[in-house]
Amino acid sequence: MKAPQTLLKYSYHQQEFAFQKIFNRSYSLYSKTTDSGQSYEGWEDFAQDFFSKEDWFTAQPLQIDSALYSSILEHINQFKKQAHSKLSFAEHKWLYAWEGAIYDGGKNIPIQLCSNCAVEVPYFARYPKSICSTCITLLTDEKGQQVDYGNTHAMGYGVQGVYKNSKENYNSLDCFIGAKKFRAGEHRFGGVVVQLQDHSPK
Ligand SMILES: [Zn+2]
Repeated sequence: MKAPQTLLKYSYHQQEFAFQKIFNRSYSLYSKTTDSGQSYEGWEDFAQDFFSKEDWFTAQPLQIDSALYSSILEHINQFKKQAHSKLSFAEHKWLYAWEGAIYDGGKNIPIQLCSNCAVEVPYFARYPKSICSTCITLLTDEKGQQVDYGNTHAMGYGVQGVYKNSKENYNSLDCFIGAKKFRAGEHRFGGVVVQLQDHSPK
């Protein structure tokens, strides 16, 4: 995984998008030309190119003009659909910086997809690799025996696994759907959350 390379600043000024590399002062603030020397017709033209780069989200966003929020949100959502389960927790953190940079009090909510079946689930930045309620019913131990998780306390904390058939305790938080590896944990607001682990087969 590459380290963030640069800080970018975007804004709109008299119909022209501004692009500034904070660490590299060779660019004027209101320029149509980027570091590659390429010029763009406008924001959409630039955005198509920028967001098609595999590692665009490793750049840290700064002071994005609110006029660009909805456009950037679309690109974030598109990227999430494409990358789906391939993103690591660290990569989700970087992406979250972008989601935070376009936060407008709850209007621009990014999508979140089940890390197993890709169905849309409620957005919860704290659990970016969670799975949906249907996929939770598919969990097994390493040998394929079906398991279920519940809270050990009625107040919604503590997590314990149990074998569905024998009702015996399953004393591991690691769980599987096929070859994919997941981990169960306590949900901050009660209940159980199950997330795909990094380096699990995709
Ligand atoms: Zn699912």
